[in-house]
Amino acid sequence: MKLDLPAAPPSTAALMNITRRPEAVFTRGHGSWLWDSQGRRYLDLVQGWAVNTLGHAPPQISAALAAQSQRLLQPGPGLFNDRAAELATRLAALSGLDRVFFTSSGAEANEGAIKLARKFGQVHRGGAFEIVTLENGFHGRTLATMSASGKPGFDRLFAPQVPGFPKARLNDLASVQALIGPQTVAVMLEPIQGEAGVIEAQPGFLQALRALCDEQGLLLILDEVQTGVGRTGTLWGHEAAGVRPDIMTLGKGLGGGVPIGALLAREAVSCFAPGDQGGTYCGNPLMCAVAQAVLDVVTASGFLADVQARSAQWRQGLDALARRLGGPPVQGRGLLLALQLPGEDAATRLAARLLERAETGQAGMLVNAVRPQRLRLMPALNMQADEISLALVWLESALFP
Ligand SMILES: *Cc1c(COP(=O)(O)O)cnc(C)c1O
Repeated sequence: MKLDLPAAPPSTAALMNITRRPEAVFTRGHGSWLWDSQGRRYLDLVQGWAVNTLGHAPPQISAALAAQSQRLLQPGPGLFNDRAAELATRLAALSGLDRVFFTSSGAEANEGAIKLARKFGQVHRGGAFEIVTLENGFHGRTLATMSASGKPGFDRLFAPQVPGFPKARLNDLASVQALIGPQTVAVMLEPIQGEAGVIEAQPGFLQALRALCDEQGLLLILDEVQTGVGRTGTLWGHEAAGVRPDIMTLGKGLGGGVPIGALLAREAVSCFAPGDQGGTYCGNPLMCAVAQAVLDVVTASGFLADVQARSAQWRQGLDALARRLGGPPVQGRGLLLALQLPGEDAATRLAARLLERAETGQAGMLVNAVRPQRLRLMPALNMQADEISLALVWLESALFP
């Protein structure tokens, strides 16, 4: 394809400086590949931050957007629409939960989960409102979800915090038990702490939390914004532990690149009264149609088995690298994987080297240094076997030049 390349990338100076970003300006994507305004090509293992379930610009999503955009964009949150109704029915059937509220982001879904738990506390638990959350957990960037997060530094940024989120430790049941009191209404956590560096909640810990919540009449809230919709090789991240949450939140992969999140709950927990919760874009049919297209692919026969096969391919290659590095084996599940690298800032420097390949006329590679020594990979769930082999070769040559 012949591309008209601008002499210089568009200026980014008018954008608020909210994070460190590479200078390249991205203009086009296809599958596992991204192109910048200078025509440089990158193999993308970040995929919009574990968002692009089917890779960049998948035909299923363009078709869903094109068709739905010609029918109905948004009748408004005060009216039912067919797409939201269908998607809610489908998510309820797939999750075993009963009721759904749609949002435009993961943080908003979690904010809704927090409100639902507090409402449940008012209605059923004498005003209990505290939600036990975990150190290093991540639930989003609204004030309440930042307060629920245990990301170091979040407690001082934009202080004062929203109260009511005591912090326990992952995989330490006693630390949760110690925080439970008369004001406790719920326990909230991620099946795998993604932003913390891909740290798994052990199945035994999740099972013990489920039992504890049942015993104490507390709600178990699972934030599946990153782990949901096939990312871990099963449809939901909690399937590995065989526990069912009372409330579950989704985001990221549900929309495959467009903004949609969801809050799901058991019938007995779904206690919002009319007027309690809403949002201008909640359940808009355009995004719901896209989520349907994503679910069509992810729930098709054989798709999750393919995700597991790709995961095994990654794992084999990454474990071989880990052994040569003398580090621990790869962590995570499905296509949410992390590799610990020895040496100060080793992951940060590796990510920079892989990006810089693009400066030398080769294709670059986009990876996430989730911690200075920890590389996180979250490729498209349909990344091809030969692309994975290529990525492993490039990783190897960057690690062992
Ligand atoms: C990304 C993420 C969120 C926040 O989702 P946004 O769509 O960025 O608001 C919440 N929880 C987890 C586990 C996430 O990974």
